[in-house]
Amino acid sequence: MPELPEVESIVRANRDRLVGRTFTDFETSWPRNTLPAPDAVRDALRGRLIADVWRRAKYIIFTLAAPSADAGRGADAGQKAVAGSPMRGAPLATGHTKRPAALSPHAARPAAPSPHAARPAAPSPLSARRSNGRQSPGYLLIHLRMSGRLEWGDPVLPGQKRPAATRSGISGSDVPRPDAPHTRAVFTLDDGARLLFCDARKFGRILWTRDLTSVTADLGVEPLEPEFTAGLLADLLTRRSGRIKPLLLDQSVVAGIGNIYADEALHRAGLHPLTPGNRVSPAAVKRLCHAIRSVLRAAIRHNGTSFDWVYPTGTMQDHLRVYGRTGEACRTCGTAIEALRVGQRGTHLCPRCQPAPRGASSGGRALRSASPRV
Ligand SMILES: [Zn+2]
Repeated sequence: MPELPEVESIVRANRDRLVGRTFTDFETSWPRNTLPAPDAVRDALRGRLIADVWRRAKYIIFTLAAPSADAGRGADAGQKAVAGSPMRGAPLATGHTKRPAALSPHAARPAAPSPHAARPAAPSPLSARRSNGRQSPGYLLIHLRMSGRLEWGDPVLPGQKRPAATRSGISGSDVPRPDAPHTRAVFTLDDGARLLFCDARKFGRILWTRDLTSVTADLGVEPLEPEFTAGLLADLLTRRSGRIKPLLLDQSVVAGIGNIYADEALHRAGLHPLTPGNRVSPAAVKRLCHAIRSVLRAAIRHNGTSFDWVYPTGTMQDHLRVYGRTGEACRTCGTAIEALRVGQRGTHLCPRCQPAPRGASSGGRALRSASPRV
């Protein structure tokens, strides 16, 4: 499942291509994962400018705006282009279409409301609850969940025929290639470009909302924001007796961390995954806060971790210290990395760098209940 660094990498790789464009159409072949119903999402998106694309937790968020006077470019072309249907997948962030100067995101971005005004300045349990949806005609949110990914379909230019929807009989460069595998939805933009939402396992979600807080209110602190401090983390942990790893995976505590980076942060902090949250020492909380931030930043620098074909563009897997390294030597001390099950999740740790929590009560039971990873 893509975690914070992978989602952030996707946003950064595609923001420039998206911001300043206008949605002209939306189609889905899997309406069950679209909220509200596809027709309502299509009505909400058509004619809306993409003022910003950003990330909150594991959500990709499009801040929408009413098009400004100079952003009506290509409207006719866009309306013609909506005849396109899902087809021709290309890797995301490749083959960028050059955007005419007059259509730069800054020219098209409305002076007010500013996308930054609409974006929570400091996403947190408190600030995220502030209503910030009144300044925008709405937000499009995409959650990739287990296997979702974004790709670019070939643009459909004005006057072009609707691409063949068939997957059979494809040959020759003048014949449209088939859809990207598992295309579930297509967002058409005013330049004819089509953003494909592909999802093999169909757990991904496409949401439109006028009030962003209706989706984000329960999300925890953003670990890369300045407000994520050792003091805040200590405050979050002292109130919870659950084990530290499930706490890190709880999106209402810290947002965006998944299985990979929880394991990596705990190793860097020297904390056993079964340590109760309220028994983490102040010094260890400091180490953990630093470890979370540093591992997430490193992962973003490496475009995330490529764990399978769903997300092939990252290189962080070459720098992981415990995740997926069962039996291999700890990069710190040389001890063999072990695997446990913690809260149904495969968990990787170095038994020497991350000693089991003291005390027969919680720590002992926790350890006995953890079974080796199959
Ligand atoms: Zn070690």
